[in-house]
Amino acid sequence: MQIFSDNINTLRAQISKWKEDGNTIGFAPTMGNLHDGHLSLVRNLKKNGAKKIAVSIFVNPRQFGLSEDFHQYPRTLKNDMALLEKEGVDLVFCPEVNLIYPSHINSEIIIDNPKLMNDLCGRKRPGHFNGVLLVVNKLFNILQPDIAIFGQKDYQQFILIKNMVENLFIEVDLILSPIIRESNGLALSSRNNYLSYENKIMATEIYASLVKVKDKLDKKNDDITQIIQLEVDRLNSIGFKVEYLELRNLDNLEVCNKAEFEKKKYILLIAIKLGDTRLIDNLIL
Ligand code: AMP
Repeated sequence: MQIFSDNINTLRAQISKWKEDGNTIGFAPTMGNLHDGHLSLVRNLKKNGAKKIAVSIFVNPRQFGLSEDFHQYPRTLKNDMALLEKEGVDLVFCPEVNLIYPSHINSEIIIDNPKLMNDLCGRKRPGHFNGVLLVVNKLFNILQPDIAIFGQKDYQQFILIKNMVENLFIEVDLILSPIIRESNGLALSSRNNYLSYENKIMATEIYASLVKVKDKLDKKNDDITQIIQLEVDRLNSIGFKVEYLELRNLDNLEVCNKAEFEKKKYILLIAIKLGDTRLIDNLIL
């Protein structure tokens, strides 16, 4: 496994060599503190034909708000490397902040998509998705992958990246990878590490709640708003703070119109606070 941390030219030379030899390059961007969810991205890249796998580990400061957990975010590089090596990853890119955001460049590009990025998670996290799109764009330009994979867990992020790739004619195929969960339903997340033992048990309610709402919607009870509001009230009453629980169009995240409601084209998305920890999850209908 080759590790690159401070030299973009040597990394690019390696990727070019692999491409010249006819290899398809698969790429999974991460912020590290790897768990099975991240490792499933590597496995799915292979299943989708990638012959050389590149993973980046970079805690991107631009996607954290001032009051968010950038400094606290778990950094476990040594362990991450061991996991990736075991998984058969070919290349890891783990740059310092200054390589991605060089201090000599004193003005910065902003990639905006106001309609999509100020909605849902963007409502409580202004600037978050600008930071995500900026870093993904930089990473695509550095690594030039043929295929890039993103988890369904961050579905709004995926839709924004898909939109950016289409809008900017970026030459990469995107794959959406299913959510990996604990056996009790809790979606794996680095932020689960912040939860106390009791709250980790309580957090299993999040997925259970999505399944419950889906079941109710499946029964063709057409009052979507009421079904969802009742569930929001219930979650708030047992100690969560629901930021949103919404049914949206799967393709473009537009608000679900009751009259058009059909199965398999919608996604239920939730963001919730449990103590100081913010968790997200979703379920495709
Ligand atoms: P992160 O390190 O949190 O930025 O995540 C890196 C990538 O892993 C993103 O594409 C996430 O959507 C994906 N990911 C995170 N958690 C999971 C999970 N539980 N299942 C599948 N993919 C995940």
